[in-house]
Amino acid sequence: MNRCKIKPPIAGHVNLCPSGVSTAAHDQEVLMSTVKHEILHALGFSAGLYAFFRDDNGQPRTKRNQYNKPVSLNKERGFYDWDESTIRSVVRENWWTKNGPVPHRLQMMITPRVRAEAVRHFGCSELEGVELENQGGDGTALTHWEKRLLENEAMTGTHTQNPAYSRITFALMEDSGWYQANYDIAEPLSWGQGLGCDFAKRSCGDWMQLRKSRGLTPAPFCETVKHDGVESRATTTCTDMRDSLALCNLVPYNQPLQADYLNYVHLNGIDDKEVDRYGGSVELADFCAYNQEFEWKSAMGGASGRRDSRCEIETNTPTDDSNAALETYGNRSRCFGHSGKWTQRKCGRMRTFAQYGAGCYEYICLDGRLYLDVLNGTDVYPCYHAGQRIAIRRVLNGWLHEGTVVCPACSELCQPNPGFAGCDPETTPPRPVGDPVLPEPCSAPSRYISLILLLSAIVLNAPFSSLFQCS
Ligand SMILES: [Zn+2]
Repeated sequence: MNRCKIKPPIAGHVNLCPSGVSTAAHDQEVLMSTVKHEILHALGFSAGLYAFFRDDNGQPRTKRNQYNKPVSLNKERGFYDWDESTIRSVVRENWWTKNGPVPHRLQMMITPRVRAEAVRHFGCSELEGVELENQGGDGTALTHWEKRLLENEAMTGTHTQNPAYSRITFALMEDSGWYQANYDIAEPLSWGQGLGCDFAKRSCGDWMQLRKSRGLTPAPFCETVKHDGVESRATTTCTDMRDSLALCNLVPYNQPLQADYLNYVHLNGIDDKEVDRYGGSVELADFCAYNQEFEWKSAMGGASGRRDSRCEIETNTPTDDSNAALETYGNRSRCFGHSGKWTQRKCGRMRTFAQYGAGCYEYICLDGRLYLDVLNGTDVYPCYHAGQRIAIRRVLNGWLHEGTVVCPACSELCQPNPGFAGCDPETTPPRPVGDPVLPEPCSAPSRYISLILLLSAIVLNAPFSSLFQCS
């Protein structure tokens, strides 16, 4: 195709505020992804360019006037109206909300490749295309994929975690008529994959009700309140990909949410009269709550003075005196769930850490099995089946740390590793796995030292009080 004839965009500009550019390891992923994201807007993924898209024959998808411009300039929006064969207005008449069905209006990108990729990704043959973002106003609405449907896809309207440039975005760029996409380098997107029309065409409230009626979790959404406006109620969990700790981002707003977004009927521990004020902290996701990475307000000894919840970042490892759950972060770490609470004991004193529902630990894959490796351990612990509990007991900094780590399925962590021959069938452990009971340390029980221990315990405890004021 002659590129002069199909007239692709030839220039664009992106402003990056110097104060927003950081060289910290914590910021690399989001910074790189953001730059790519903005370039894709300039290249075609932009409401101002949709009316200029061309079909595979190089013909404009939207009718042109005698000046070779799209026929209708939308003065209110500030860009040309597109043809219904590019973006279609769709009304979901029975959009489930807590107070009954309401009509919900959507704009869907329905070009051929986008539609084909959507059908394939969600596993819904009747799906019209992919919803465009309906919130966020100028510059966000219509110019991104709907956050509720494609959460961590990099062309959604806000970065939350793990950005992925998926086949769906590649398809949109190709359907502009200006580019050919190399789908081999598209990044996998697990959000929504294979969840069918019930996921792709209904509200998240509807989806959660449906899942629970079948005895399933509301995944990929969640309904655990993060904080109630007064105090934290959060317990960490693992992201689906086990690459990070996560919290359910369900929070109270000052006002009840608008009718379309009343997705919750009851919430544990929240008065029913207050439930209408609760929604996911990511508004663009139609206020649907889901498990999300977070940054700790208190660095808790993180070497760079900052700690986030990604297992792969080594400097997220807490210092020994803050490392209640004996975690290790780095590129060999993934997220493991806990069973029950972690405790620390010393000389009759006990601390309990209710917030830790999961932690980052190193693992190895060897001879058909997954092995857990806990901080500074001399031995590793074999996982014989998913859900197997491993009791960990270790003295660190004079405190006896006790907790239970739960094995994921070997296939979850080991199967994707190159060179790993495959997981052995699951079986009950042939002998108990875990640490033996250890005595509580108390080496200097004089009254004077007890007083020092008590004071230092108070000081050491201080960082934990602000643990969950996450941004
Ligand atoms: Zn954008």
